[in-house]
Amino acid sequence: MSHGRCFFMPQLRTGDLLFNAVVLQQRLVDRTTTHEALEAVRGGVGGNARDMFGHNVSGVSTHLFGDPNHADQILKQHTFFGVFQHALSEQMVRIWSFDLKAGRYQSSLRSLGASATDFGALTTTSLRSCRQCIACDLEHQGFATWKLVHQMSAIDRCPDHGSPLDLESRPIGGSHARIWPLRLPGEDRVSRAGRVYLAPSDGYAAYLRLWQRVLTDELPWLKPSAWIQSMQAAVLRLGGIDAATRAIESDVLRAWGAPIGDISVALSLDGRVNPINEELLLRSRPKDIARRMIMHGSLDRLGLDLFGAGEGDQRALVLLGSTDYCPRQLPDTSVDGLLQFAEQFGLPLASVNLGDIDAGFTQVAQAMGMHHESLRRFAAALQLEVLQGLMDSLRFGAESWVACEVARRHKRGGVGARRTLNFAPA
Ligand SMILES: [Zn+2]
Repeated sequence: MSHGRCFFMPQLRTGDLLFNAVVLQQRLVDRTTTHEALEAVRGGVGGNARDMFGHNVSGVSTHLFGDPNHADQILKQHTFFGVFQHALSEQMVRIWSFDLKAGRYQSSLRSLGASATDFGALTTTSLRSCRQCIACDLEHQGFATWKLVHQMSAIDRCPDHGSPLDLESRPIGGSHARIWPLRLPGEDRVSRAGRVYLAPSDGYAAYLRLWQRVLTDELPWLKPSAWIQSMQAAVLRLGGIDAATRAIESDVLRAWGAPIGDISVALSLDGRVNPINEELLLRSRPKDIARRMIMHGSLDRLGLDLFGAGEGDQRALVLLGSTDYCPRQLPDTSVDGLLQFAEQFGLPLASVNLGDIDAGFTQVAQAMGMHHESLRRFAAALQLEVLQGLMDSLRFGAESWVACEVARRHKRGGVGARRTLNFAPA
């Protein structure tokens, strides 16, 4: 008999995982089954999976607080939305939260530019905890809670205490299902034996300090427009992509006491072979926020500029103001439309160059660090007016990806035949 809502819930503090509410609900209400506890918090969606991104967040808000208006607060303080929102423009943050509140759970994949596999790698399958956090919680409120940031694969120590995180509460539905038993931290300890943790170092400490701030502070330097400018400035100042890669890799080795490849494996970063080079080439997506945190420390130590405060959020603005691009003569609405859509589609930051690369799908995809099939899917979803505008600009030749897409639509029976996705809120 859950139908409904939770009638009493201890306050979840900023950074407490939403899953805590499910466990507490079961503890507080006599004879509640796991399924009923999940339904009381989330409603009848998502089966038994313990979600990390606020599935049915408007419902959750109503069930927990009797009011759907706390959905934004729940997203920012108790789900991974609060972490990854830093790597999206303000416009995309609005679209993503709108989608989540409307129950469009899948929008998280697109917003982060992640595939289902990437998505799984962002968080650990087993819930993790820190012994010192447990002790603080018990003293403060009598029970311990799961912390959101501890569940990120990209850290293996507690940002507050520096101690290695314990793996506990293993999934009971197989490694991908993320169905956890309804337990609180400290109730299900798994030994640390055999686990290899990254050694403490100045570099790691600086990185963990950023993770401490991720749910409470604004981190405007992580936004796409600022990040693009920071990477371009670093390349310029350090004498090109290769020289910049070498300089930052040497700095990371000095500060962390480990090569970037080892750090990358230990922290499950994407682009394991050369994540620094990938960032400098702007082959970075919102899901790669941890790589940007590592780069931040390095740029700081090397005395390089980090753009951020006071900058606009639209990637399109970069085209007008950055070091590598000349201001255009006239406002180019088709290029603006292209870049906006690229962002909504979760394309890498390198898509900022899309309006200028006159080449076929394979070559463009390679330059941006993505699979050509993904680029084709993006092109197929582009609005016809945008494609037409790009063709009219005469910047694209007959062999270009734009021309190929237009030709494909003609062949399929009229260019106008395919209308398009519109991700913007109504
Ligand atoms: Zn801790």
